[in-house]
Amino acid sequence: MTLSRLLSKPQATDYQQVDTFWFPDESEENEDYECGNENDGELPILIGQHIFLDTGSISLNYYCTDCENVRTFSSGKEHGLRGVVVSQRVISIDCVLQCNCGSVVHTWFLVESEQDFRNQSPGVRILHFRDKLSGNVKLQSEQYGEFAEWLEKANQAHRDGLGSGAVIYLRKVFESITYNIAKVNDIQTTRHRSGRVEKRDFYGVLKDVDEKHSIIPNAFSGNGYKLFSELSSIIHGDGSEDDALKNFGALYTLVTGIIDNIKQKEELKSALQKFDWSMD
Ligand SMILES: [Zn+2]
Repeated sequence: MTLSRLLSKPQATDYQQVDTFWFPDESEENEDYECGNENDGELPILIGQHIFLDTGSISLNYYCTDCENVRTFSSGKEHGLRGVVVSQRVISIDCVLQCNCGSVVHTWFLVESEQDFRNQSPGVRILHFRDKLSGNVKLQSEQYGEFAEWLEKANQAHRDGLGSGAVIYLRKVFESITYNIAKVNDIQTTRHRSGRVEKRDFYGVLKDVDEKHSIIPNAFSGNGYKLFSELSSIIHGDGSEDDALKNFGALYTLVTGIIDNIKQKEELKSALQKFDWSMD
């Protein structure tokens, strides 16, 4: 795998081996930089030095409002990628990604290598990632309309290594959408108990909604709902921080899969239009 391919994938916590991307270039050396570890004939580390990274281009998906669709934004192949040396193990990479129509996103990656990044085929991971969107670019989650903000907060929390925090936002979307479909389809969301009206248990409502409208994606509802129940229990707090981080991708796919299902069903479209965020 190339470094640029790794940077085009969702951020992972483990180090992954990539092709060698740094090749010594004498012309890049500059005496003004602070040097370290200059022994055993090893080239010095030049903190703050700009280096050329011999790897392909980075590609990430965003919603382009000019193209009115999700598009792949890429860094220019002809210019290659450049990084700034932070330490023997860390490089900062600044890069502008572009849609075919010309819309741009400014991205910044802090890449950490398990050992010296100059090694052959080093193991690396993304330590931090940030993007600054221009006016006509929105996050991919924008296609999820009302839910975009919460989905993006989930992504942001996950990128910052906050497993439980990320899952809380997904849970909010999951529960709100289920209760909303129930409301607009006359499925009971409350019950009477000892003369009081109280909210029905979430799973009861979800079961009724799914039986009538099949909102849970097939990939999750098969196999006796096993995967679905596992993910649901993580969403509802029965899991460790590690479980939350490890399963975030699957959880995100589950929740966005539910929204995709709803968008395709005529009878449920009104549930998306009359969305009510007030039901906490
Ligand atoms: Zn575009």
